[in-house]
Amino acid sequence: MLTVEQAQGRIFARIPSMPEEEVGLDAAAGRVLARPVVCNRDVPPWDNSSMDGYAVRAADTADGSYTLQVNEVIGAGVMPTATVEPGTASAIMTGAPMPEGADAVVMVEHTDGQQSGLVTMHGQVPPGKYVRRRGSDMSVGQEVLGAGAVLNAGGVGLVSSLGQPKVWVRRRPVVSILSTGDEVVLPGRPLGPGQIYSSNNVSLATLVRQAGAVPRDCGNAPDDLPTLVEQMRDALTGADALITTGGVSMGAFDHVREAHRILGVEMDFWKVRMKPGKPLAFGWVHGAAGELPVFGLPGNPVSCMVNFLQFVRPWLRMSMGDPRPFLPVVPAVAGHDFKGRSDRVRFERVVLQASEAGWIAHSTGSQGSGILTGMAAADALACLPLDRDPPRAGEGMRVQLIRPGGLASSTPGYGW
Ligand code: AMP
Ligand code: MG
Repeated sequence: MLTVEQAQGRIFARIPSMPEEEVGLDAAAGRVLARPVVCNRDVPPWDNSSMDGYAVRAADTADGSYTLQVNEVIGAGVMPTATVEPGTASAIMTGAPMPEGADAVVMVEHTDGQQSGLVTMHGQVPPGKYVRRRGSDMSVGQEVLGAGAVLNAGGVGLVSSLGQPKVWVRRRPVVSILSTGDEVVLPGRPLGPGQIYSSNNVSLATLVRQAGAVPRDCGNAPDDLPTLVEQMRDALTGADALITTGGVSMGAFDHVREAHRILGVEMDFWKVRMKPGKPLAFGWVHGAAGELPVFGLPGNPVSCMVNFLQFVRPWLRMSMGDPRPFLPVVPAVAGHDFKGRSDRVRFERVVLQASEAGWIAHSTGSQGSGILTGMAAADALACLPLDRDPPRAGEGMRVQLIRPGGLASSTPGYGW
């Protein structure tokens, strides 16, 4: 049986690169840049004031108290007309260009507010005080965001400040999701005897979206080989990847691997040394539209999500050119003794509590592969290595953060 790392090695060995597309900035946040953003203008475009006040020659302020003649008022959005000669100053607003001759700004709070063309001020200012230099944020020719950068609010603002309305990003992969099982019914429809409602369709669609890709929910297929093959064929059409859930174990009705064979999937492997999530049928199908990965995830709801996060999510991020395709990993301290020892790597669902010593990890309770309450509560997956005793209370461990948006706090936390 492959280890998690070996399985990842096989899956990540082939990553097709999603094509480039140009998108408007309003749709660009969260996308991965395909081409770098190069600065085409200095930002700020000229030396300007960071305060409302008076543009002066710093040398004129040496006495600490002085009266200067006012040349003009420079508002933001207008260019100065007068040169600041010795003994003079120009009133200036925040963001307005610095006039010739001036090299510092005295803030308006340190003045008498100007009487009949003269302003009296106090306080010595050094050259450069309250002056934002031309190009101090970005200068022409500089690569300000590299290919592979993930755009955030600051990033799209930066591109906008350069006057560029669009960016080149990698297309989002389309991921078809097909659950399987005669017992599985989508919510909104009546349940027959022995049937359950699906959780996997909507959980996986959510995880696909959170990974930055586009989910296509293809519903459920029965445990009937010809129908399953037909539905998988439809699901493959127009997709960049296919995920199925269920039907990959040893049961009499587990037809997914046989369906793979009929569809010509080049099977790679189907079992990984991990808990939950041991059954994982992975392979490649060669269709008219090229090669597509086919992920046969287990049916148990927690197993399928844990598998998605370890294997499918990084593959999707890599295909979009993200150089950091894995979940964030942080150190945490065990809040209690963790139980058991296994010959498989365990991904224990934990909640994290902030403390002065860092994050404290507590198990969500029952770790059964179908316990959705634990997955709904979890902040992170604690990765417990195989064949080693699990951490005891107070010992360090590593956790993968699985709640997007990070760990929100119930307090502002200013006191920390
Ligand atoms: P299987 O891998 O098909 O043997 O399924 C393993 C377990 O997961 C069984 O208890 C199934 O009923 C359950 N299961 C399969 N698909 C789903 C689904 N879409 N939503 C919730 N549970 C499922
Ligand atoms: Mg099944």
